[in-house]
Amino acid sequence: MKYYYDLHLHSCLSPCGDMDMTPNNIVGLAKLLGLDVIALTDHNSSLNCEAAMKVGKANGLTVIPGMELTTSEDIHAVCLFPTLEKALDWNEYVTEHRIRISNKAEIYGRQVIMNEDDEEIGEVGELLLPASQISIMSAYKKAKEFGGICFPAHIDRDSLSILSVLGEIDESCGFRTAELTDISKLGALRKRHPILDTLNIITDSDAHYLENMRDAENFLELDELSAESVIRALDTKP
Ligand SMILES: [Zn+2]
Ligand SMILES: [Zn+2]
Repeated sequence: MKYYYDLHLHSCLSPCGDMDMTPNNIVGLAKLLGLDVIALTDHNSSLNCEAAMKVGKANGLTVIPGMELTTSEDIHAVCLFPTLEKALDWNEYVTEHRIRISNKAEIYGRQVIMNEDDEEIGEVGELLLPASQISIMSAYKKAKEFGGICFPAHIDRDSLSILSVLGEIDESCGFRTAELTDISKLGALRKRHPILDTLNIITDSDAHYLENMRDAENFLELDELSAESVIRALDTKP
């Protein structure tokens, strides 16, 4: 069956994420847009996944717990996990392996943790954007140790992407999937990077604002819908 997805969304926990990106607003709009499955992927944190998953469950939307990791090379990579527990273990690991500097909320924005009623229950004091110590070469293998998957984010963008930083997706990274924001760039990228023919290509919105979330257009063919089945599909070479 076809299941419509958006596997890269930010909440109010990301400093650059709008405060209107609350668990209920994200899930509510995803339903209105016709999506079947979303992933919450805040920068270097998974602490709003619990609320989003609870709201998703109450509203019949599959929410995959995730994170957008900043690697040691300043490359963004999306990590997805089969359960909240695994995502929180990963969150702890990344927290121990990232630069610990204070957030200046007035400059970078607040980093708010919410419950399933969109009430603020905390705020992360350390800036979540800076690089971690996890390299792009090890990110896939590391996420897999936690039962998850990792793939390079928005590879079509001119900054903070694997192609803009390294110029190529090296096979030894182990990736099975790559993400684009603008699918119209795929043809040109394929000519320069034949490795893309060997990867699943997905398109996500990377929305930081509600108005940047997109209509359901992109789908995965799955036997059944769950975080596990999505991860399995993205971890299987096309
Ligand atoms: Zn990014
Ligand atoms: Zn992002």
